[in-house]
Amino acid sequence: MIVLKFGGTSVGSAESLSFVKEIVRRNYSQNKKQVVVVSALGGITNSLVDMSHLAASGNENYVDLFNEIEQRHLQLCNGIIPLVNRSATLTQTKVLLNDLEDILRGLYLVGELSPRSSDLVLSFGERLSSTIIAAFLSEAIPKTILCDAREYIKTDAQFGNAIVDAPLTYELLAKQINDTNDLYLFPGFVASSNQTNQITTLGRGGSDYTAALIAAALNADELQIWTDVSGMMTANPRMVSSARTIDSLSYEEAMELSHFGAKVIYPPTIQPVLDAQIPVWIKNTFSAEDKGTCITVDGSAAEDPVRGISSIEDVALCTLSGSGMVAVPNFSYRLFSALSKASINVIMITQASSEHTITVGVSKFEAERATDVIEAEFQNEINQRKVNRLRVEKELSIIALVGSRMREQVGISSTLFDALSHNGINVKAIAQGSTELNISVVIDRKNLKKALNTLHESFFLSDTKKYSLFLVGIGNVGQTLLQQIHQQKDFLSQELKTDIRLCGLANSRTMLFNSNGIDMTASKEKLEKHGVPMSMDAFYAEMVEMNLRNSIFIDCTATYDIPTYYQSILRQSISIVTPNKVACSSNFDHYLDLKKTATKYHARFLFETNVGAGLPVISTASDLLKSGDKVSRIEAVLSGTLNFLFNHYDATVPFQEVVKRAKDEGYTEPDPKIDLSGIDVQRKILILARESGHKLELDEIQNRSFLPDDCLEAQTVDELYNRLLEHEDHFQLLFKEANEQGKKLKFVASFDKESGHAEIGLQAYSAEHPFYSLKGKDNVVLFYTKRYHDYPLIVQGAGAGSAVTASGIFADILRIADA
Ligand code: ADP
Ligand code: ASP
Ligand code: MG
Repeated sequence: MIVLKFGGTSVGSAESLSFVKEIVRRNYSQNKKQVVVVSALGGITNSLVDMSHLAASGNENYVDLFNEIEQRHLQLCNGIIPLVNRSATLTQTKVLLNDLEDILRGLYLVGELSPRSSDLVLSFGERLSSTIIAAFLSEAIPKTILCDAREYIKTDAQFGNAIVDAPLTYELLAKQINDTNDLYLFPGFVASSNQTNQITTLGRGGSDYTAALIAAALNADELQIWTDVSGMMTANPRMVSSARTIDSLSYEEAMELSHFGAKVIYPPTIQPVLDAQIPVWIKNTFSAEDKGTCITVDGSAAEDPVRGISSIEDVALCTLSGSGMVAVPNFSYRLFSALSKASINVIMITQASSEHTITVGVSKFEAERATDVIEAEFQNEINQRKVNRLRVEKELSIIALVGSRMREQVGISSTLFDALSHNGINVKAIAQGSTELNISVVIDRKNLKKALNTLHESFFLSDTKKYSLFLVGIGNVGQTLLQQIHQQKDFLSQELKTDIRLCGLANSRTMLFNSNGIDMTASKEKLEKHGVPMSMDAFYAEMVEMNLRNSIFIDCTATYDIPTYYQSILRQSISIVTPNKVACSSNFDHYLDLKKTATKYHARFLFETNVGAGLPVISTASDLLKSGDKVSRIEAVLSGTLNFLFNHYDATVPFQEVVKRAKDEGYTEPDPKIDLSGIDVQRKILILARESGHKLELDEIQNRSFLPDDCLEAQTVDELYNRLLEHEDHFQLLFKEANEQGKKLKFVASFDKESGHAEIGLQAYSAEHPFYSLKGKDNVVLFYTKRYHDYPLIVQGAGAGSAVTASGIFADILRIADA
């Protein structure tokens, strides 16, 4: 004997019922005896709830709702019941609907909805659906018997919250249900009082429970819960798209997951089948071939210590506190009795060990009632100021990690808190069962989806971690970065389990967002076609509003404006990667503040490409510092651009033309004056000195510029080009003087820790010096340190160009992704 339960999601329409019929027909053809339990048609119980409230509050609109419900059932009859049986089924359905209409009219007239009448109204959902489905299935299976659940499922008389009388229920079922018929069909959810026979219900989602009671009573071979998903999944698939089916679970794990919101199975369902040790299968009506989830005593020895992550969306925390609480006798007893008497379900409890506070999590919709009953219970103590008034926080959600093997594994909590804090998600309360079968945390509701996805990626190793980029500036470097990421897409996802999506994009005129990712190969066209006017305020606001996990902001501009947003961005726990030097070369306190903000909000602030493009210069300086070395002197050629210019300039073509070429090839800043004036190098040595642990300001660096003053004063790029040409003699002279001595010109930056002196300027080097042979647009940095004091640590290589700069930014992104 097997017991099958089809939920509202499986019996909502003629189409879904055809799947149901196929499933039972197949069992029949294999000679399996079956009991089928059905829910109300999908959505009907909610409509019954709404309708009864409308009627009882004197609102005539309940009639419209009633008409809809009536139509839906009559249409279904007409659609699926063959003509021969149709009139009988229509008559039975109509009788039920008439009863329902009379009851609603009564509620409307009396203006009152008692728990008893509410149960009565709600029962019609299953009574109607089972009547129609029995007629429909009898076509395929001749000996189909529709059973009246009220005669079998017995409860006490607490309407709205009835407790099942299991011994009596089992006895009644076992006595009357036998193997002589092919199919018994029961309405789920509906029961009746063992004393008065009045209708009671088993709680929302309670059809699962009906089926479990029947399975236990008949000692079924298995209980099958048929729904619209292929089993219990690692998280609610409506929230986490990468959630996957859990092959097998223990009863305890399933109970824990369902208690914390995995509504695919109603929590009380587990107890009867656990007692009788009947395996439970969760199966998909619409994809019956899928294996589904099997729930048994041992579950499985799967590797993931966390088996599933469940969540309850609308939760409120009620906190009772007060210094006098320690002295109040029976404190917790009174608190929980008050809640229990009011039938308020406590989802979680946390208590400070000092006993000065106790917090309970309840459904948001019960928060007001909970407040009333708790404050009434402690009225005296509140009046005497021993206890404070109840603090209630709404708009919260609970997330629970569940797995029986979590207790064998260290570090689960730290992974949990790390993942949440890196995404700026604050934990309001924590509870951990002493069995360590679950760890639950309370967070702001607005962060639920982000938190679930982040945790899913952190705990299920097979899961690909998603990063969301917000890129401002798509010049050479920005474009190249997107190309590089796109090219690596498959490698990143297959080898590093990392998926980098472009979720926001802007140039100075337009901006574009898409949380599913903007096509990186056509981003520029997409931006032009679909973009809206850009303002950094709006860009920032949208990025925060999207609230995506693992967000990274990339500033690929050279503007002064965008870095003013860095503080706010970091405060949202959004990491920043940038080649823009403005922030790190601003005043020291601001630079330090940014670093502190990043640490405080668990975000990363990475700017490797500020110095030497993609060369590991900053990371080397910071590694030296972190590992306890001390930098005493830095000598460096830090401008790939200037190196390119002086390597290519031999006085045969004007200096201006070499500058133009460098710009065209992407080796200069958008405004080449920033390179020529030395300010760019000045910023770089400043950042390098700071990253090596020294407090330094930009104006403390001596700039021995080689550029004539009126070139420095040029307002536009064209003006600069003109003036460079006017001063061609000056550049020829610089070149010839060095050349005659067999020397080469290099623009050098140096910093000396001892004296605190830093300077930049053009110098001529003879062949013996390592700088002499520096090629093309290469950079070189010599670190003289405590450990590297005779021969410096040298970092050398291409220090300009969009490809190497983009790859440096890419490397910073991957550093954040820990890939
Ligand atoms: P039924 O009408 O069949 O009883 P329910 O709506 O009660 O169906 O439960 C099925 C739904 O449970 C799924 O559609 C899914 O959205 C939700 N759900 C929540 N958490 C989980 C989970 N961890 N695994 C599977 N489904 C889940
Ligand atoms: N129809 C009831 C509800 O919607 C019971 C169930 O579907 O399990 O809650
Ligand atoms: Mg359900």
